[in-house]
Amino acid sequence: MKIAIDGPAGAGKSTISRAVAERLGYVYIDTGAMYRCVGLRALNSGVDPSDAEAVEKILGGVDIDIKSRGGAPAFYLCGEDVTEKIRENPVSMAASSVAVIPAVRLKLVELQRALAAKADVVMDGRDIGTYVLPDAELKIYMTADPRERAMRRFKELAAKGGTPDLDQIEREIIARDKNDSEREFAPLRQAEDAVLLDTTKMTIPEVIGAILELAEKRSAEV
Ligand code: C5P
Repeated sequence: MKIAIDGPAGAGKSTISRAVAERLGYVYIDTGAMYRCVGLRALNSGVDPSDAEAVEKILGGVDIDIKSRGGAPAFYLCGEDVTEKIRENPVSMAASSVAVIPAVRLKLVELQRALAAKADVVMDGRDIGTYVLPDAELKIYMTADPRERAMRRFKELAAKGGTPDLDQIEREIIARDKNDSEREFAPLRQAEDAVLLDTTKMTIPEVIGAILELAEKRSAEV
């Protein structure tokens, strides 16, 4: 079975997807991390992530490798472990900018489909149910209020010892949502056959439980 989990930034997709994959014995594929790798590569090359022509020129040199490390995926960009680096804020914004460029999407979608062809997967992103895996047996559209999403990210950063600014985080989340939903090619939107899950008032175990229940129901049908 293929499970597609889409939704806006900070809705908890990766935490939930990883846990669901683990419980089902499926492979978890974090497509956002791939866009982050391209964004990081642009920043490292001194290229403006919103300059489509310049980004296309460096795209051939983007080599992404995913390895499992202690049960969690580790991302390698041209041989370098960038698992931590790609989570930094400037990389989030760069990822959102390069994700608008069709050539970037085509390259990454090819990689995503190849990975999904090899195993049962839980894949999370923005366009998985609508574009990457339109035939996924279960599609979830996970969302939450922007303030709640910003608060979750704030807590995560504060727990790491940072001094985050909640309003700034919220502004960035809203800017990324706008970029993602207004782009022409494979924008963020709920697939017609996706189940909507608003997690604003749900705990992580509740969300995981709800998806496992849907997966169980769906697997009995297929
Ligand atoms: O999910 P995450 O926040 O890590 O994704 C980073 C960025 O990559 C998103 O803001 C979005 O612009 C882009 N993305 C995308 N399509 C996907 C996954 C991520 O456009 N399937």
